[in-house]
Amino acid sequence: MSLTEEILSQLPGDVLGGLRRSDRILTSIREGQPPVPTAVKENQQQLGAVDWDVLICGGTLGILIGCALAVQGFRVALLERGILRGRDQEWNISRQELEAFLKLSLLTNAELEQAIATEYNPARVGFDNGIEIWVENVLNIGVDPVYLLETLKQRFLAVGGKLFENTPFGEAVIHPDGVIVNNQYKARLLIDAMGHFSPITQQARQGRKPDAVCLVVGSCAQGFPENHTGDLILSLTPIQKQCQYFWEAFPARDGRTTYMFTYMDADPRHIGLEALFEDYLRLMPKYQNVELSQLKFQRALFGFFPSYRQSPLHTPWSRILPIGDSSGNQSPLSFGGFGAMVRHLERLTEGIDEALQTDQLSANALALLQPYQPSLSVTWLFQKAMSVGINQKIAPEQINELLSAVFRQMQESGEMVLKPFLQDVVQFPALTQTLLKTNFTHPGIVVKIIPHVGLLALLDWLVHYGNLAVYSALFWLSKSFEPWEKYLPNTSKYYWHRWVDAWKYGSGGDYENRERGI
Ligand SMILES: Cc1cc2nc3c(=O)[nH]c(=O)nc-3n(C[C@H](O)[C@H](O)[C@H](O)COP(=O)(O)OP(=O)(O)OC[C@H]3O[C@@H](n4cnc5c(N)ncnc54)[C@H](O)[C@@H]3O)c2cc1C
Repeated sequence: MSLTEEILSQLPGDVLGGLRRSDRILTSIREGQPPVPTAVKENQQQLGAVDWDVLICGGTLGILIGCALAVQGFRVALLERGILRGRDQEWNISRQELEAFLKLSLLTNAELEQAIATEYNPARVGFDNGIEIWVENVLNIGVDPVYLLETLKQRFLAVGGKLFENTPFGEAVIHPDGVIVNNQYKARLLIDAMGHFSPITQQARQGRKPDAVCLVVGSCAQGFPENHTGDLILSLTPIQKQCQYFWEAFPARDGRTTYMFTYMDADPRHIGLEALFEDYLRLMPKYQNVELSQLKFQRALFGFFPSYRQSPLHTPWSRILPIGDSSGNQSPLSFGGFGAMVRHLERLTEGIDEALQTDQLSANALALLQPYQPSLSVTWLFQKAMSVGINQKIAPEQINELLSAVFRQMQESGEMVLKPFLQDVVQFPALTQTLLKTNFTHPGIVVKIIPHVGLLALLDWLVHYGNLAVYSALFWLSKSFEPWEKYLPNTSKYYWHRWVDAWKYGSGGDYENRERGI
């Protein structure tokens, strides 16, 4: 019996079966053979009167935007295939990001405090035989998804939102004046919040293989030595099985959460979730200085995150907007999709509000709500530098050495360089400073990256890096246009605001505002 079989069989429910099911889905995606559903059709006839301004399919992150739009006064309905309920495992996020819930009147101060299940400090960043850094107030808040989603659901219903549980999305037909779902629910706009494996996303991506995958396994358990600190990214080992393993750990309400994750391309010969779980359990004693027999496992956690260079996803259809994991609006380095959604919640709420007010619901107009962001695209190279091709020969400590060198420079440059990066925000000045310094102090390490990531990836990255500079400049220039904005007609205002948002978020310019509480 493997360690995985032994430990997972102690947990209630068929956890091992769930892990193996996820592995089968991962295999079909890696082999490029996932079924491509026909979830969306088009019809040129008029639909006539609609019942809802917005119909949201998928309730996990869907309730966030659903609640925000219902509070703005829109007629919103939400379809959830099961029961709308948050998962038991906390979502980690940084405190200032949670301000969005207050600004949008989704939660009261008291409710927000109650949603915070855990708070810890400090957190560590460290690499095998390399640097160790401690930071404060980064991803150190654990939000209780059960309480958060239940509270948002009650607020949603109180302001007139309509929730249809146990109602799976089947198909959508787009008409020139509206969209009808399951031949029953008629709305002006359909928001797809059905996650990575949404049928709408699958159809839009046409079964294309992801460009990268992040595999995560972990657990929440009791019995660890007392520890009120966390790890944001930590490695203990050199490259093994063509993977660099990273660890993450947080104090949780009912124990300690530990994750092991790794980045890779979508080659089917790479390790799967069950084998990764076995390595996680094998390495855990070394990581947490504990014997497995001392631990009482509360739950097992696992998942994989496909990411596509062509992200965020732009669908070919009018009247459909993906949000949350289905949209691909997060960096390929992150599995913090809740955090990414909260970071964009105000922007999305304002943008959808304006799109509905000005009737800008064409595919092109909606694509501007999930715009190209060089701040996301530049992270592709980092993802590549942290993963190993199945036949690639790389010195076992190369990734650790590179990360140690880069993080040392970031630490020396100060918190304003280090902290945004750890919160998934890349900014031109910080990135340039770090790269120049690393190049200067560790030229040998930098030279090794070129054959590792490949020349094409490097050239592609240079384009995004250049765009990051351009977006930073455009965002800065756009501020001087603010007094003139009011003279624009409403439709032009919609486009102008979307471009400013793209420059702002695409240059990481949203970070300063959040830090200053603006
Ligand atoms: C192990 C692990 C740890 C994580 N830790 C963090 C963290 O600490 N911080 C963080 O920010 N993020 C974290 N995440 C990521 C976060 O959980 C996801 O980004 C988030 O759940 C995405 O929400 P979503 O609504 O977009 O998609 P999903 O979570 O996939 O939810 C999709 C929703 O749509 C519904 N649905 C699906 N199909 C249909 C259908 N046909 N009809 C109707 N409804 C449908 C589902 O029932 C579900 O409610 C973690 C994820 C994992 C796996």
